[in-house]
Amino acid sequence: MSQQVRTRPEGSGRALSEAYDTALLDLDGVVYAGGEAIAHAVDSLGAARAGGMHLAYVTNNALRTPDAVAAHLTELGIPAQAGDVITSAQAVARLIAEQVPAGARVLVVGGEGLRVAVRERGLVPVESADDDPVAVVQGYGGPELPWGRFAEACYAIARGVPWFASNTDLTIPSARGIAPGNGAAVAVVRIATGAEPQVAGKPLPPMHRETILRTGAQRPLVVGDRLDTDIEGAFNGGVDSLLVLTGVTDGPQLLAAPPQHRPTYVDADLRGMLTGQPEVVEAGVGFRCGGWTATAGDGRLELDGEGEALDGLRALCAAAWTAAGEGVCELDGGKALARLAL
Ligand SMILES: [Mg+2]
Repeated sequence: MSQQVRTRPEGSGRALSEAYDTALLDLDGVVYAGGEAIAHAVDSLGAARAGGMHLAYVTNNALRTPDAVAAHLTELGIPAQAGDVITSAQAVARLIAEQVPAGARVLVVGGEGLRVAVRERGLVPVESADDDPVAVVQGYGGPELPWGRFAEACYAIARGVPWFASNTDLTIPSARGIAPGNGAAVAVVRIATGAEPQVAGKPLPPMHRETILRTGAQRPLVVGDRLDTDIEGAFNGGVDSLLVLTGVTDGPQLLAAPPQHRPTYVDADLRGMLTGQPEVVEAGVGFRCGGWTATAGDGRLELDGEGEALDGLRALCAAAWTAAGEGVCELDGGKALARLAL
């Protein structure tokens, strides 16, 4: 697919759930937050599935097994099976298996999800640098991971054993706030060794490849809340994406997105999968969507009209991304966004 610079969100005359065969859904900030389902997620996913769309769940979190994630989704009212869940643990296990002999020992610094994924590829998880591992793999281990496991990783890496990481997300959201994620744990080992790991997770190609291999998707739509993982991963894989505003991305971040972070579509929440998407059209020197017209003015973005807030945001995206071209929009969108009260 083309990787021309995107300068506005696209329209779709058909519901996205009909225009694409498979939704590759991020979990945190898209389907659930803090363990609870996000508003409209259960009904929207149920309707998309009833209409024939295949739903797959794609997560950088390597701690939980696909079985555990599927059980959690099912409990929330979103029926899922382990085979519908793709994790960065699976992607990194495949990456390792391609580079080491079958049955080789792998030093695992992480949780159950990573151990299960390593075993699934015919490799043997071990816990000590003295167990003669041929690879070190690091994934999010949760609060129970002992500090001494980082030391084991460092000892093995210093002996020349290749180092892999499931993902490098620096933080992980919890019910009580922002906690250090696997990227922070990887940084600990990087500081101590000076080495660099091979990384599998979003937005990198090994994760996208794992997802396509496991789902068999012909025309996938990535659905996510983060620009630098979900949307960039879709961009790198050459597939379309839907950004939902139920997670970490806000209006200013979206308007300032560089080309690889610009989604194909933008909507408020997962109800956006069930509808078409309005066109953003050129209108004089600006861009119109629904009842709104956005223009790039003197140091800032201007918005005129009235109507659906999301249409105003789509028009603003077109004005900002067109002004930015291959760069990042530096025009002030604060006043215009305030009118939309997103
Ligand atoms: Mg997310």
